[in-house]
Amino acid sequence: MTLLTLDTHVDIGWPNPPDPRTETKQQVDFPKMARGGMRAVVFIAYVPQGRRDAAGHEAAAARAEAMLHHIRERADGRAFRFCATPGELEACHAAGALGVLSAVENGYAMGRDLGAPTRWRALGACYLTLTHDGHNELADSARPRPALGDGPEEHGGLSAFGRQAVAALNAAGMLVDVSHVSKRGMLQAAALSRSPIVATHTACRALCDHPRGVDDEQLDALKAVGGLAQITAVGAFLRRVPDGQKNPASVEDMADHVDHAVRRIGIEHVGVSSDFDGGGGVIGWPDAAETPGLTAALRARGYGERELGLLWSGNFLRLWRRAQALAAG
Ligand SMILES: [Zn+2]
Repeated sequence: MTLLTLDTHVDIGWPNPPDPRTETKQQVDFPKMARGGMRAVVFIAYVPQGRRDAAGHEAAAARAEAMLHHIRERADGRAFRFCATPGELEACHAAGALGVLSAVENGYAMGRDLGAPTRWRALGACYLTLTHDGHNELADSARPRPALGDGPEEHGGLSAFGRQAVAALNAAGMLVDVSHVSKRGMLQAAALSRSPIVATHTACRALCDHPRGVDDEQLDALKAVGGLAQITAVGAFLRRVPDGQKNPASVEDMADHVDHAVRRIGIEHVGVSSDFDGGGGVIGWPDAAETPGLTAALRARGYGERELGLLWSGNFLRLWRRAQALAAG
């Protein structure tokens, strides 16, 4: 069986998303996936941070739901299959089809509605990223937005509502994504969630001290709860360069971050993702068509087929399966 390469964080254009069945200007569409051997992607219903009032929350919820419907409907059920469970993804891969998954980015889309995770899960979504840039009702962000009135911290990590939201995600069988969440909020979510948490698009602060990364204490917390850090292809998270200079980050930098995380917490807790069409893309892995570039860089570091399988999808599937089992049980 070919390697199940699963990219766990890919944005779509919204509104007016390009048709992924055709060759587009996007970094990810089905033709590029087919050329690059990218077997499956999680397309994101990303909701930008807006006003935290009833109207703002209502619009955010409507957008997330419309995007989840859109992502699901673009898969044709034959060559491109929407996969709502780990089993469906594995069957899709075995059949040689490309897998389409969905998730929601920014708990802002929940507003204060604890019923949202169940509805999103019914549409097939596999995770919720608790925050984006800017604090919301659930948690503090790693990157506050002073222009939206944010101070450095608002809740001291998770809010009381955020704690209920984590429980609602657990009950619905959706994974808790702590990318974008403040360190304190991330550590609280790790301790609180019954299902292991994931950072779907992050990097190691030990190698590049960017607020969107996770430091060694956070890596240790992920290991302790059986969680997962997905090293992502965003240059600014991988390598520091002086302001105004082009970031020369490459697949070698990604491999450095993977190596650091693996040495610290073990291969079972590390993965990779792109953040394509949302700011991702590095030298050697500029789009889905060039996916072999990253795999080759990892292989050159000594990762064999088993390890590559874990990094590309095995670990994420383990967490997703666990989330489903806990929700069912
Ligand atoms: Zn993001």
